[in-house]
Amino acid sequence: MRAWSVVEPGPVESGSLRPVEKPVPVPGDDELLVRVRACGVCRTDLHVAEGDLEVHRPGVTPGHEVVGVVAGFGAAVSGFGIGERVGVAWLRRTDGSCGYCARGAENLCPASAYTGWDADGGYAEYTTVPAAFAYRLPDGLDDVSCAPLLCAGIIGYRALRRAALPPGGRLGLYGFGGSAHLCAQVAMAEGATVHVLTRGAAARQLALDLGAASARDAQEMPPEPLDSAILFAPVGELVPVALRALDRGGTLAVAGIHLSDVPALHYETELFYEKQLRSVTSNTRADGREFLALAAEHSVRATTHTYPLSRADEALRDLKAGRFDGAAVLVNDVS
Ligand SMILES: [Zn+2]
Ligand SMILES: [Zn+2]
Repeated sequence: MRAWSVVEPGPVESGSLRPVEKPVPVPGDDELLVRVRACGVCRTDLHVAEGDLEVHRPGVTPGHEVVGVVAGFGAAVSGFGIGERVGVAWLRRTDGSCGYCARGAENLCPASAYTGWDADGGYAEYTTVPAAFAYRLPDGLDDVSCAPLLCAGIIGYRALRRAALPPGGRLGLYGFGGSAHLCAQVAMAEGATVHVLTRGAAARQLALDLGAASARDAQEMPPEPLDSAILFAPVGELVPVALRALDRGGTLAVAGIHLSDVPALHYETELFYEKQLRSVTSNTRADGREFLALAAEHSVRATTHTYPLSRADEALRDLKAGRFDGAAVLVNDVS
């Protein structure tokens, strides 16, 4: 099959992601074989391709926002049928037995494995997924609209919950790409006032079109103090900026898997008055199921820009350069 491979991590402009031929994967006993129809392009794919994340599997095929159909399964799988539509997301496997898993925090499982990092993902004609980690997808959402929900959407949703936004609260979103624009829709459907702080003029316009109360540059202060904020931009310099924008008792959640260094914080203006700074690590399957149900209920829609699967490298370069707003989705044009 045709697939993309991170042959040697480095700048995507110099060809670190390359088209290769790989055998169609053989699903393990508890796994599904999935024929890929669409795969979202996540910033984490860029971090994998460029080596910001250490290599876990040499030559890995990135992609963890996969919408496809079941094309086969291992002997121990039951409950899935050939041709059934499924979603494959970032969290691929946990041990199910450690203390974190036992207390419902499987996102922290030290033995966890990730799609498109530890195992080959969806920048290919076929991929595999443990059946217990495959998502059943709501009807009424087409493949392309569904794909960005599977990471950008789920992570944005976990970040929203980690940001501890009170009912009807004031939420600031720093950065407004694939994850933030989905998170904003859930927050607004639940009654929040959303302020977007991002550098791109087109992204600010998208925010206003979706119903944000204001949209300003990331370095500016929002028009009112925030109860909660989420940092989606992978820019550590924005941590103190966002903390200063919080009201007393406010919470800042950092959503990225990778962040440039956070500068020294000024205690009185940035942390005192019980402001909280939290990170967000991956997600649990429960987050995913909750979010997909909410997305269907509130008609959460990704603003998507499609690329043929055969031009995945271009999609990653455009993501890095900020050439589109919303979410890029690869559509399988090779099989
Ligand atoms: Zn992702
Ligand atoms: Zn565990």
